[in-house]
Amino acid sequence: MKHLLVDVKCSDAVIKEKALKELRNVCCQCKACELHKTRTSAVFSDGNPDAPIMLIGEAPGADEDATGKPFVGRAGQLLNTFLEEAGIDRQRDLYICNTIKCRPPQNRVPSNEEKLACQGYLIGQISIVRPKIILLCGSTAANSFIDEDFKISQIRGKWLNLFDDIDVMAIFHPSYLLRNHSLETGSPRWLMKRDLLNIKAKLDEIRTQTDN
Ligand code: SF4
Repeated sequence: MKHLLVDVKCSDAVIKEKALKELRNVCCQCKACELHKTRTSAVFSDGNPDAPIMLIGEAPGADEDATGKPFVGRAGQLLNTFLEEAGIDRQRDLYICNTIKCRPPQNRVPSNEEKLACQGYLIGQISIVRPKIILLCGSTAANSFIDEDFKISQIRGKWLNLFDDIDVMAIFHPSYLLRNHSLETGSPRWLMKRDLLNIKAKLDEIRTQTDN
């Protein structure tokens, strides 16, 4: 996906917000794949257009489809808890979106055709926001960026060299953590906490460099 990013030269928050609004308007009218027939609303994004971190999930669920906002259901609330514990401010530090903007029926995994049809919006969002860090939340998001076969449990928590100027990490999707309650050392929730502390440390490092 790296080679598909475009240099749109959105230098400040106001210009980014305007460019994203235009892209959102196109997305909300989109009929490029079958998913438009069953959606209530396209779910474009939430958070700060000028955020240092972009979090990319899989696809909207029922709550997201109803509200038009990503990560607002039970999984989103769990994500909020993990972010707060790590000292990451969802509204200030994150721009949140999904790989697919319309809800797949019964929350099935999006097909490759649907991902391809929707890819332009994601590329546009990354190109406009130009985050310092991208978090690939779950296998579907990671699959959009990594060609080889992998298990999310093997690649999560490592900084991936996918872009020259953006640090990328795959993390567990909170819906997976809803099914795994243990906090024991080495459990998925324990690993998620550790990954987010690692991400917060990277964020602090970036902020220190920017301030100097
Ligand atoms: S999922 Fe993406 S490509 Fe398909 S209709 Fe929605 S916005 Fe368009």
